[in-house]
Amino acid sequence: MVNSFDLLSSRGMARSRPPRSPPLVPALALVLALTASPIAARVHVQSLPADAGRPAGQGVGGEDYQGHQVLKVFVADNGTLDLLRSFEGNPDVDFWTPASGLNPTVDVLVAPDVGRRLKEELTRSGASYTVNIEDVQLLVGRSGHPLTWTAYHSADDHHQYMDFIEQNYKGLCETFSIGTSTEGRDLRGVKCGLGKREVWIDGGIHAREWVSPAVVSCLIREYSQRSVNHQDLLRKHTIYMLPILNPDGYEYTRSGGSAYRRRRFWRKTRSRNPGSSCIGADPNRNFDAHWGETGSSMDPCSDIYAGSRPFSEPETRALRDFLLGRVHAMKMYISFHSYSQMLFVPYAFSKERPADYKELLRVAKAGEKAIRRTSGKAYRVGQASQLLYEAAGGSDDWAKSKAGIKYSFTFELRDKGRQGFLLSASQIEDTCTEIVAAVDTMITTSAEQDDKA
Ligand SMILES: [Zn+2]
Repeated sequence: MVNSFDLLSSRGMARSRPPRSPPLVPALALVLALTASPIAARVHVQSLPADAGRPAGQGVGGEDYQGHQVLKVFVADNGTLDLLRSFEGNPDVDFWTPASGLNPTVDVLVAPDVGRRLKEELTRSGASYTVNIEDVQLLVGRSGHPLTWTAYHSADDHHQYMDFIEQNYKGLCETFSIGTSTEGRDLRGVKCGLGKREVWIDGGIHAREWVSPAVVSCLIREYSQRSVNHQDLLRKHTIYMLPILNPDGYEYTRSGGSAYRRRRFWRKTRSRNPGSSCIGADPNRNFDAHWGETGSSMDPCSDIYAGSRPFSEPETRALRDFLLGRVHAMKMYISFHSYSQMLFVPYAFSKERPADYKELLRVAKAGEKAIRRTSGKAYRVGQASQLLYEAAGGSDDWAKSKAGIKYSFTFELRDKGRQGFLLSASQIEDTCTEIVAAVDTMITTSAEQDDKA
């Protein structure tokens, strides 16, 4: 005779793969919503992989059990057994004890949607159950990736988060790489959306501005895990988000033990400068937009060293090459820095204004208004050359004047100097909330104008 323990363990082995993660649900909902309209259905057919919205393969930290429950079902008769067995093979159901009829109860782990259905059917059939574990995630105690928005994290944590998003939001988001840094770190990002109109967002150009990578990762979270709130936008756009453009500098600010205090405020890249013992160039002075002119230095020891030539740094070169390869579709460039709560419109190299300055200012002001509405924080809007200082060789000026990306902006995030580069991690979420509102508004506001043109 087969005892229930043998059944249990053999079942356990056979079904050791955990059930699917709930983050799929929003992604799937979006994909389904997209396919609901005839236009989007074409997009679906053309650009979504065959497994779009399907459960992702098992991988590094891919599991997430938010809202998953374990039910204890009381087996009253064969009808209950048949009902339970009809759920066998469902990837969102995992029998912790077998529906063999040998035990008076069956424990079963269910994902939120299928759990609701199972409970309804059990009730309808007159069977009874209790909820043994209300939210499995709380007991598992981890979210499938190490990133949080209550602390500042390593480049590696950010990369693990990107893997998590790619694995759980197939058909909506995927990772991309634009190259490698001087020290060989991957310049990685995530793109989300199914639209033809493209938007570029980067952070972490300056090493010590820690809130910048945190906020860009927040935008990744927003356009993947919270995509249900942005369906229209994601149907029309593809948003490229790269949190740490200068990972060598970023890791340097996080390292150093007793040297930490000295390293924490590093700003530049970590490349060697021939003929100098000083390290690195200012990546935001290294772009070929009035390179080497005002507000930059030719001294390798300076914090605003422009580099030995335009695009001397592999990080800026990688961004240049990637953006130039996508100029046909790329309509917006946004770069995140900190601090001082400002939103810059080109140009920074001088007080000269682009011909469409008024239109750019309109979009920026809509973003600023969204921030004020959301958090009440004040961000000043205008040219960097007017509000802060003239600085040549910046990424936003290059994106606008050389790559021809119409809408080009730079944010200086929180705060206004009370904590400065040491902005408390407890402010990350609030900063995220206001910036999500701003970016969303700026993308839609600029798209309206495109539609008219
Ligand atoms: Zn900066």
